Amino acid sequence: MTMSRSRIYPLLTQEQLQKRIQELGAQIAKDYANKDMVMIGLLNGVYPFFADLARSTDLDFEVSFMRVASYGGGMESTGEVKVIQDLDSSIRGRHALIVEDIVDTGLTLDKVRKILLDREPASLRVAALLDKPSRRRVEVPVDYVGFSIEDHFVVGYGLDLDGKFRNLPYVGIYNPA
Ligand code: 5GP
Repeated sequence: MTMSRSRIYPLLTQEQLQKRIQELGAQIAKDYANKDMVMIGLLNGVYPFFADLARSTDLDFEVSFMRVASYGGGMESTGEVKVIQDLDSSIRGRHALIVEDIVDTGLTLDKVRKILLDREPASLRVAALLDKPSRRRVEVPVDYVGFSIEDHFVVGYGLDLDGKFRNLPYVGIYNPA
């Protein structure tokens, strides 16, 4: 497949993203005031959102990362999740907030939630920049949603197509045709 930026149609501008992330950060700061919170980023796609959200959340908390791989690759999730890199700190008895780039079928998040719930955190919530509710195959709670979007394959601001386009500062729809 030849990949080109000319196939990307802007969906969310840098300004829209930053404004919404400020709002989410303010809400999270309010909800987690005086709590021992660990903000957990799911790599790789979350990196720009995570950095911006963490800086918008005016609290003292720990950051930790996890990398999971869903088998198959390409544009579809398979539901088989393998932990490639685990957290470097314990979440037992602490307030864990998973930060994810996009929730599509919900299969990845569902698996990650189960893995983390086994570790007995005081609470477990989820923040996702993007949500595609029409694609959901398993019901999974998303507590903080940046934007709910239609069923499009999107790239940019961390989201890739075969490893490319993560560095775009905006989110766009990739049109392969
Ligand atoms: P789920 O398990 O919810 O189906 O998928 C979650 C993962 O699939 C996301 O973390 C992301 O890596 C990938 N994904 C789902 N939808 C999209 C999309 O529209 N664009 C990109 N680039 N990745 C997506």
